[in-house]
Amino acid sequence: MAHQFCIPGKVSLSATIHNPRTPLRKFGIVTNSTILNIIIAEGITREITTVDSSNYDIVIIGGGIIGLSVAHTIPSIYNRVAIVDPSPGKGTTWVAAGMLAAVTEAYYGEDMNLNLNMASAKLWKSFAGELSEKSGIDIGYRQVGTLVVAGDNDDRSYIKELYDYQRGLKLNVEWLSAAEARELVPQLAPSVRGAMLAVDDYQVDPRLVIKALMKLATDRNYSFLATRATSINAASKKSSGGNSENGFDVTLESGDELHAGRVIVCTGPWTSQLKGIPRSITSAVRPVKGEIVRVAAPDPSLLPAHTIRGITNGRSIYMVPRADGTLVIGATMEEKGFDTAVRSGAVFELLRDARALLPIVTELSFQETIAGLRPATPDNGPIIGSVGDDNGLIVAAGHYRNGILLTPITAMAVSALVQSDEGQLPKEVIPFSPMRLEKSA
Ligand SMILES: Cc1cc2nc3c(=O)[nH]c(=O)nc-3n(C[C@H](O)[C@H](O)[C@H](O)COP(=O)(O)OP(=O)(O)OC[C@H]3O[C@@H](n4cnc5c(N)ncnc54)[C@H](O)[C@@H]3O)c2cc1C
Repeated sequence: MAHQFCIPGKVSLSATIHNPRTPLRKFGIVTNSTILNIIIAEGITREITTVDSSNYDIVIIGGGIIGLSVAHTIPSIYNRVAIVDPSPGKGTTWVAAGMLAAVTEAYYGEDMNLNLNMASAKLWKSFAGELSEKSGIDIGYRQVGTLVVAGDNDDRSYIKELYDYQRGLKLNVEWLSAAEARELVPQLAPSVRGAMLAVDDYQVDPRLVIKALMKLATDRNYSFLATRATSINAASKKSSGGNSENGFDVTLESGDELHAGRVIVCTGPWTSQLKGIPRSITSAVRPVKGEIVRVAAPDPSLLPAHTIRGITNGRSIYMVPRADGTLVIGATMEEKGFDTAVRSGAVFELLRDARALLPIVTELSFQETIAGLRPATPDNGPIIGSVGDDNGLIVAAGHYRNGILLTPITAMAVSALVQSDEGQLPKEVIPFSPMRLEKSA
């Protein structure tokens, strides 16, 4: 039975509810335990459905941009799909600036990461078009280019060196004098000493991407279970209906269990907390804190058209202008475990460095500060691939600084693995299999 409700004057709320009056029928065992899964996500409309089964084709653990885009990309023959997440979309993805920065994130010695980033950047245009068209939601994909500016002469030397390196890699970058940079972006500070233009580094609004993906998941009647998964185990004979070779049991924090033919782990920085996946994976993912400040202009035309990145006094800063006049300023990098408190000093430092390059910043109205946790790995690359050889348990996590950029290629790769269609697996993803961690463990 399906229910729907709306609060007048507010967004429609949505939920997947295990109806307390309908006993949860699990693998032949009737239990009265209930899973109440009310998910309230801003601006997102979904249906309330009654879950009367704990048996799924696919269970996706983690509904951030990675989990939801995987859910969107898997073929429609898998129609019994559950997404387990206490607050989908509200993890790291909710904090991210949304730069699609394949070129300006190209650092020394990360050639494999660069190949992956470039391949995913190329997929973004059609991915964005498809999401917007199917959901009817503009996801803020803007092909505006990124300008990397130098605050002083030392910063200029650093950026020039990076420019030479990136030119050496045949990336599409252009050097601009200070005057040329100011001609392109008149809002820049007079002190700016030169800049590098990366015309192909675009942006998207991750919060709008989440909104679109949640709508599309609802349209496909996926179940959202607003709870945490605690562990994954190979299915027992009882849970898999006598077939011990097929599938997995996923234990939820309530103690309830789901059975799934396949499980896809997309738990971002919290991957280390999930039991039942190899230690080489759980020990590889660590949280790296990043703080963001959002300010807003009364008129979007007051902001630069381009994303501005820069170095000022040796420190990195970026500013991402949105079409609605919001300017996202980021970001700190701190190794502080799972702490997400916003440090007042971080807000000060971000605004100080932003103003040094773009003086208008301190005239804009203050909107928000927020901290998120980047899912980092030892080689700064994501973990995308199967655990074992039957593609029953798949991991897509550890996307660190570039999870938004890497969304389309990750979803494409996981979809290929789900179908056991190795031919569809993008070649750039292969080096990022979980196997590499076993070798280095
Ligand atoms: C300040 C900052 C700025 C960034 N800017 C950019 C940028 O400009 N461009 C870019 O490409 N990337 C950026 N990133 C990185 C990007 O945000 C991440 O790589 C990306 O969001 C990771 O997506 P995810 O879906 O793996 O993780 P998340 O969005 O964190 O989603 C993981 C989900 O799993 C759920 N979960 C965790 N454990 C469990 C469990 N046991 N059971 C059930 N659910 C669980 C969580 O609730 C969460 O919703 C930025 C990150 C930060 C912090």
